[in-house]
Order: sequence, then structure tokens, then C-alpha cells
Amino acid sequence: LEARLMQAQKMEAIGQLTGGIAHDFNNLLGVVIGNLQLLDRSVAETPTLARKVHTAMRAAARGADLTRRLLAFARRQILAPAVLDLNRQLSGLSELVQRTIGESIEVRMIQAHDLWHTSADPGQFENAILNLAINARDAMPQGGRLTVRTQNVTLDAKFCNDYPSIEPGDFVAISVNDNGVGMDAEVLKRVFEPFFTTKESGKGSGLGLAMVHSFAEQAGGIATIESTVGTGTTVTIYLPRSKEEQSEREDTIVTRVAPGG
Ligand code: ADP
Repeated sequence: LEARLMQAQKMEAIGQLTGGIAHDFNNLLGVVIGNLQLLDRSVAETPTLARKVHTAMRAAARGADLTRRLLAFARRQILAPAVLDLNRQLSGLSELVQRTIGESIEVRMIQAHDLWHTSADPGQFENAILNLAINARDAMPQGGRLTVRTQNVTLDAKFCNDYPSIEPGDFVAISVNDNGVGMDAEVLKRVFEPFFTTKESGKGSGLGLAMVHSFAEQAGGIATIESTVGTGTTVTIYLPRSKEEQSEREDTIVTRVAPGG
């Protein structure tokens, strides 16, 4: 499972990189091709120059074809967001989490009653939680406790000041806490950086928290981390409350009311 997770992290990082580069490159090639077409018209009377322009146009067209294929590759990894009840997702995942981190760590799930729904890619959510669980395990070599908690939270303007990508409003918070070794300020500053790892080579890719971070942002939320050396670490993912849920709830109320008159 861990090897698969690490592979998924790498593929996702490559996909994002490739997608970004291919997209920019495609735009640049558009400029090159457009100008070559203009040039082609003005050199039509001079066969030696026209041949050179044609050669350049063919090369640019091949480049464009290549970037299109790269984009298609990157798009395979594009997300399929769905309206999710994260309590249910987590319940379905708890056995796998326990198996992954071993019996020496006690897993506790504290689930908010009536948790709001949120919209996210379920596979990515699972990967994020598994990554966090593996980090927690690595931080508790002598065993310990992993607590996964869900909560409805309303973030105010003061909180959002520190996170320009989100607006104040309703969020579902999923926090993963361990009572492990914790991190010092130096490490804490860099944990969301891709490829930053303190683990020995082969053990960590340094992509786990970077992926958690990009998952949260792609779902319209944020990820935060708090840690104290010797006490433990809490990673919290805030995902915006889904608007679709409200209509779903109204439906539920209507069907409940109807039979009794
Ligand atoms: P990796 O786990 O592959 O090293 P991550 O991005 O998941 O990559 O984590 C980066 C670094 O952050 C880790 O190498 C570790 O030093 C630190 N870290 C992450 N989670 C925890 C945690 N729960 N407790 C202590 N340190 C952590």
C-alpha cells in the first residue's frame, strides 16, 4: 500500500508539472505557428526561404502534437469531485488506516453529528488521510494514539486573513492528530514543500504533505499544521461546505413531513 501511495504521489506531481508546462508550451507554440504562417505568405516568392519556413512549421506542428499528448496524459489525473459525507468516507477507511499503521497505535475517530457535506475527489481524500496516518505512524515509533476528528466550523474574516485563498464561511474540518515526536520550527516551515523530507532515502518522498496541501486547495479549502516537539502534531484540512447538501436536506425534511400530514 505504501509503495502504491508513493507511486500515486509521484504520478500526481508529474501530472501537475507536465500539465502546467504543456499548457504554457502550447501557448508559446501558438505564437510561433501564427508568426510562421504570416512569414510563409511573405516569402512565397522565394523558394529557398519558403522551404525553411515550411521546415520550421512542420517542427512546430510536431511540438504542438506532443504538448497535446502530454496534456491528455496530465488530464487523466484530473479530479472527479463528488458531494461527500466525510464521516462515511472515514468510517469506510478506518480499518485500512489501522492495518496500515499497526496495532501499537490506537486509532480514535471522533465524528461530528450532522457533519456538513463537502465536495471533493473521494480517492484523493483517501490518499490524503492515508498519507497523514503514515506520517503519524512514523512519528510514533513506540506506539501512541492517532485521533481523526471531523467538525463543522465557521471561519471568520480574522482567521481567513492568514489564508487569502479562502473566504469566511462554513467549512468541514478534518483533523488528524498524533502524540508523536513533533517538529521544530525549521521543519514545520518547510513541510508543505514538495520533496521536503527528513526521512532516510527510500522511506519518504517528501510529497505526502505537499499532496495533502494541493488536495485541500483544489477542493477550495486549506490545510494547516500545528506541531510541538515532544508533544505531537495536528494536521487540519478545511473543506468548504457544499451548497448541494442543503437542497438534499430539504428533500429529506419534505419526505419526513409528508406521511404525517
Ligand atoms: P515524507 O513523509 O515522505 O517525508 P511529507 O511531505 O509527508 O513527506 O512530510 C515531510 C516531513 O514532515 C517529514 O519528513 C517529517 O519530517 C515531517 N512530518 C510530517 N508529518 C509529521 C508528523 N505527523 N509528525 C512529525 N513530523 C512530521
